[in-house]
Amino acid sequence: MDGKIFEYLEKYDYENLFFLNDNQTGLKGVICIHDTTLGPATGGCRMWTYANEWDAIEDALRLARGMTYKYAAAGVDLGGGKAVIIGDPKTQKSEALFRSLGRFINRLNGMYITGLDVGTTLRDMETIRLETPYVVTLPREFGGAGQISNYTALSVFQSMKACAEEKFGVNSLEGLRVGVQGVGSVGYHVVKFLAEEGAHITIADIDQERVKAVAEEFGAKIEKPDRIHALDLDIFSPCALGKVINDQSIEELKCKVIAGSANNQLAESKHGDYLDQAGILYAPDYIANAGGTIFDTDRLKPGGFNEERGVQAVKRVYETMKQIIKISKEEQIPTYKAADRLAERRIASVGKAKQLRKAVNISM
Ligand code: NAD
Repeated sequence: MDGKIFEYLEKYDYENLFFLNDNQTGLKGVICIHDTTLGPATGGCRMWTYANEWDAIEDALRLARGMTYKYAAAGVDLGGGKAVIIGDPKTQKSEALFRSLGRFINRLNGMYITGLDVGTTLRDMETIRLETPYVVTLPREFGGAGQISNYTALSVFQSMKACAEEKFGVNSLEGLRVGVQGVGSVGYHVVKFLAEEGAHITIADIDQERVKAVAEEFGAKIEKPDRIHALDLDIFSPCALGKVINDQSIEELKCKVIAGSANNQLAESKHGDYLDQAGILYAPDYIANAGGTIFDTDRLKPGGFNEERGVQAVKRVYETMKQIIKISKEEQIPTYKAADRLAERRIASVGKAKQLRKAVNISM
């Protein structure tokens, strides 16, 4: 960004960047609104000790834009936004600080809706909720969707099925060899779905106790965490860390499909190009892992939270993935680029509808 904020805002078409300062509570941060064409800007609140203020601003800008694409491609009627608090989440949190943030968010009157992110907890969201209704990722008793990892796992599973149909011509994962890296909140449920479907599962996790327990529960094999990607697999599912598809691992992959929940799976975009050239079908991470947020934000729809509607919306990630595969094939571009196109086209087409509405209003 090189300190040229307006140049950056213009380049990526940002709407707003708000600076937050509260001397009383020590709150210092920013709220970034990228695009509200599809709905209010929504995205979590990150609390982090940034090396400098520019890093914090840049992080908020980058993450907000990522949310625009995530919602747009996943068919969610929300725009992209993000809040960043500059500070150490271990030592600098207080009730006053989050209440202050809640008041700032409330002042925006629904233009921005916050939620959980790195460095913030459900407890912090409950505190923000005391000051504003514009919060997602809340427990059920606070009007939220509660635990969402299983819905993230459901969208991973749906994207796997769409990819398997394309690659192997099957509509079930029965008998396919699937490797899951990381069996935490999301990975555990991915394994559960796979076991119900009759896949041959291998799992890996740095937590030895956990990996053993999950293997026993679902009859899965265990592999070393840093070797699982190199196994002779049909599907590799990264559900632990980012940047697992990198210069080194890419040479060792034998799978035909990659679909997992981890954020930022491609170390660099060139790795997405390489997967495409190698004939490995990649379910873009922000599509495969959209389930939790799709389910969580259902309560923002007219009539409030509806569990069944939320589940059905998560299951539609299957169709979204099919659409991405179609764009990728027709336009001969890797799937990670096809997902971006899908998002951009949806925003552009809804944007047209918005303009139409304005024109009608003027003529009345
Ligand atoms: P989690 O912390 O519950 O689970 C992660 C698991 O990965 C843990 O069991 C951990 O021991 C294991 N792990 C860590 N390093 C590892 C390594 N090198 N090799 C193998 N295993 C390793 O986290 P989660 O909520 O299950 O999320 C998993 C990933 O999915 C994260 O990248 C997260 O950002 C992403 N994600 C999660 C959600 C959600 O709904 N929880 C939504 C979107 C994206």
